[in-house]
Amino acid sequence: MNEFDLVLPAEIDVREVGMRDGLQLEAPVPLDAKLEMLEALVATGVRRIEATSFVSPKAVPALADADQVAAELGRWPEVHWSALVANPRGAVRAVDAGVADLEYVVSASDGHSRANAGCTTAEAVGRVGEIAGLAHGAGGSLEVIIATAWDCPFDGRTPITRTVDVARAAVTAGADQLCLGDTIGTTTPLRVVQLLDAVRRACPGIPVGVHFHDTRGTGQANALAAIQAGVTQLDASIGGLGGCPFAPGASGNIATEELVYMLEESGVRTGLDLDAVLAAARVTERAVGHQLPSSLYRAGGRSVPRALETR
Ligand code: ZN
Repeated sequence: MNEFDLVLPAEIDVREVGMRDGLQLEAPVPLDAKLEMLEALVATGVRRIEATSFVSPKAVPALADADQVAAELGRWPEVHWSALVANPRGAVRAVDAGVADLEYVVSASDGHSRANAGCTTAEAVGRVGEIAGLAHGAGGSLEVIIATAWDCPFDGRTPITRTVDVARAAVTAGADQLCLGDTIGTTTPLRVVQLLDAVRRACPGIPVGVHFHDTRGTGQANALAAIQAGVTQLDASIGGLGGCPFAPGASGNIATEELVYMLEESGVRTGLDLDAVLAAARVTERAVGHQLPSSLYRAGGRSVPRALETR
């Protein structure tokens, strides 16, 4: 290693969350347009896609068609599909619809938990066992996404010990995997690595992914910090679409195309093709009917076509 090298892994596993985190705040997109988005996302080469969320259609009208979306996923057997659930009832719906790999959100702060799930953090943790049982019974797995892992729009800074306690309790109750969510996009690289270190010490052997929102321009820096700390599973959303209906001020996830650009240009394989990601962003922009927040998408991709570079 020379003195200007970055220590980076050979490859990173990206999960596309635009269909869920991206669309949940939007006016409902018709099923046909969603299927076009899915087709374009599969064509990017991404192999993990969060397809939808089995939540109350009253709470999130944009995802009221979760069952119909799930019914179409068999078209793309090469993709590892997952769905978010908000409670055991949602888990039953998801499993009945053929999706057994589930994600369940527990907010580490009571304020966000009450707004998002109508219960305290402790009550939300108390449902992990039942949801894990449903997922495992269907041959799937359960990932617990810890929302407001760093900060809460209602309660302020989340103490590291609180997030660690949630992580430990979730794993004890049967979670196979964890994901730390920066729900309102406030964290910064140092706090990212500090929390990751604490959670991994508390839950040895459990994979821990990250879910960043780019609300304050630190999303990519946080992603790089997490990767340097050894994280290999990152969430990203096509075009930077996204937000949280129950977290005032939350804006989009880190944009898939920006993450892919940063990593591939740094020699880290993602399995995604940047041109195909930009094409999927165009499909997404048409589907939602407004401009996407991603800077790279607006800039139009790479500044120097690869073919010219090698001359
Ligand atoms: Zn999110």
